[in-house]
Amino acid sequence: MSDLRELVSFDFVGGTTAVCDAILRLRGEALHQELGRLAALLTGSPDGRFVPGAGLIDPNLPGARLLRHAVAAGIEQFGWYEVSGGEGYCPETERKLVALAHLTASLMQMHALAQRSTHAYAQMEAQLAHQSQILDQIHESVLTMDQMGYITSWNRGAEQLFGYTALEAIGRNILFLYADEDDSGDMQPDLFAEQGGRMMEVRRRKKSGEVFWASLSLSPLRDLADRPTGLIAYLTDITERKQAEEQLHHLAYYDELTGLPNRTLFARLVDQALMGSQRNDLGGCVMFVDLNRFKRINDTLGRRIGDELLRQVGQRFKDALRDEDVVARLSGDEYAVGLSDIRQHFEATTVAQKLQASLDAPFYIGGHDLRVGASIGISVYPQDGNDAETLLGLADIAMERAKRADANPDRSVAFYSQDMNKGMQERMRIESGLRHALGNGELILYYQPKFEIASGRIVGAEALVRWVHPQRGIVPPSEFIPLAETTGLIVQVGEWVLEQACAQAAIWQRSGIAPFRLAVNVSAREFTQSLPGRVSDTLRRYQLDPSWLELEITESTLMHDFERVTAIMDRITSLGVSLSLDDFGTGYSSLSYLKRFPIQTLKIDRSFTTGIPKDASDCAIAGTIVSMARQLCLRVIAEGVETLDQLEFLRDAGCDEVQGYLYAAPLPAYEFERCLRDNWLLIG
Ligand code: C2E
Ligand code: MG
Ligand code: MG
Repeated sequence: MSDLRELVSFDFVGGTTAVCDAILRLRGEALHQELGRLAALLTGSPDGRFVPGAGLIDPNLPGARLLRHAVAAGIEQFGWYEVSGGEGYCPETERKLVALAHLTASLMQMHALAQRSTHAYAQMEAQLAHQSQILDQIHESVLTMDQMGYITSWNRGAEQLFGYTALEAIGRNILFLYADEDDSGDMQPDLFAEQGGRMMEVRRRKKSGEVFWASLSLSPLRDLADRPTGLIAYLTDITERKQAEEQLHHLAYYDELTGLPNRTLFARLVDQALMGSQRNDLGGCVMFVDLNRFKRINDTLGRRIGDELLRQVGQRFKDALRDEDVVARLSGDEYAVGLSDIRQHFEATTVAQKLQASLDAPFYIGGHDLRVGASIGISVYPQDGNDAETLLGLADIAMERAKRADANPDRSVAFYSQDMNKGMQERMRIESGLRHALGNGELILYYQPKFEIASGRIVGAEALVRWVHPQRGIVPPSEFIPLAETTGLIVQVGEWVLEQACAQAAIWQRSGIAPFRLAVNVSAREFTQSLPGRVSDTLRRYQLDPSWLELEITESTLMHDFERVTAIMDRITSLGVSLSLDDFGTGYSSLSYLKRFPIQTLKIDRSFTTGIPKDASDCAIAGTIVSMARQLCLRVIAEGVETLDQLEFLRDAGCDEVQGYLYAAPLPAYEFERCLRDNWLLIG
């Protein structure tokens, strides 16, 4: 260092600059000559040379007029400086040459180092270019991303597969290629940093919008310290393979003709559904459906028409069922249906009848007007069996029996279990009888008075339907109302009851009888958006004052959609018609809900009245309902009051009204009218 300082101070800064300049600019002989010239200049010699190489030169050879010094740094020797022809060299000049040699060596070393780095860098660049060329040649699409999922490289395969150029893709987040928003979990970099890469089948979206299947292999990218820096992804389009797989799946599990599940898939789906039914403590059933007259159509009109008929039958069955029901074609003209989540096995009868009714309209195929019907056998889970195959076998047996037993095979339905069969036949008898009753004026209304406890006055009446059966006499509603509710016939029954009750009330209104509330029972199934319109229309037609009418609804009605139910209630009460809650205490009405419904009266269910006064818990319940009703400012009535003890308890508890055999049973209209007049005479 001291030598260098001497050189600089001794001579000129320009000397150093000149050496630097020469080393950077010149090569080979030209450099050697220039260095020699600079050495001569510095030492004031006529001759100067730079001899490259590390060879040893005998220092004594050229004699005393020669001055020379090695140009070396560390173990690396670049050459020699030689100056000659001077007047004799003093130590001062010698030091100058030494300093120059040091400077030159340092500069040469630095330069060599820089050159080596440049070279290495160029080599690396070439290698990268080479690699990217290779990547581009690969048919697969290869892309890399950082840990946040931002794309860092994108090869030509990726360009071809996705339709985005590298320019469009690099820098964007990988999520933009996803076909479905919800599968973004598969590229979570953290996940694989741990797992060390994985393969999967995914759906991705091309620039064109087309969605395709790809096999995706992901491996982590790491830096030199082995820390994860991102992911490398290889994708190949496997749409064709997937389609082939799906086709195979379809062939294995679906009936080609109708597109419905086949027997194998049916068994799987039904077994799964039954597991769900079991968890929810519900039942299920399997139906075996066999078409009538199909064979004849197929034999006479040909297979093409037969096939189309089978397709259309399948479609009608599908349309007749709920989405969660399973319908399959087993073979030929045989279909199967699986129902899960059913509460009572007779619900299956209704569905079977629906399926048969769906075939009522003729099929127009190839210019022909074709009619087929179906015989249906039903087996029930868990009573008959626990798995789809067993149930299907039993349903098949039931179907054969149904076909043989019934005079009209198109309406033949049979359960496998004889007990269920008997029950079903009874129900079907009642149902068709009830339809007949509606059309033939066999229904009548009875009226049961409601008394105010304090005054003993009749303040209302409840209309209760009776069926006057030509053979059986008077049939109570408990025998046909629940059935009418499951079959939907309740709507027609309800319409008739409302009509009849209003007609009767209008007669009483006109005959000058003091107004009272006539209550009509409305079941949950009737409580629809159309009910308020029907009520107001009926009131108008009979010119009946709305204060005469009350609707008794059950707690089960309230358990449906709250908003919908209150909207219907509001429309009814705005007409001036009152609402009461029947059978109160048997459902699950919560207090907070009750407050929000526009109800005027709570009716304590007969099951609690019965226990009064002996059963402590019935007494407690009745007492609680009364005090609760008081707090909510509702009137409260107890039904089924048969004894004086009951009356006394209820009076003491603060109950407003009673209804029951103690006062009067449900009566025909004329008897009720007499009761009214007697009551006036008695009270008045
Ligand atoms: P509900 O609305 O709770 O009617 C009260 C039932 O208790 C009536 O039975 C009535 O006769 C009976 N009852 C009244 N007082 C006493 C008594 O002191 N002791 C005993 N043991 N029973 C008494 P009914 O007429 O057989 O009706 C039964 C159910 O059928 C009714 O219960 C109601 O839910 C339904 N129902 C009757 N008529 C109709 C109707 O027109 N439409 C609808 N949707 N349901 C109706
Ligand atoms: Mg009632
Ligand atoms: Mg009741």
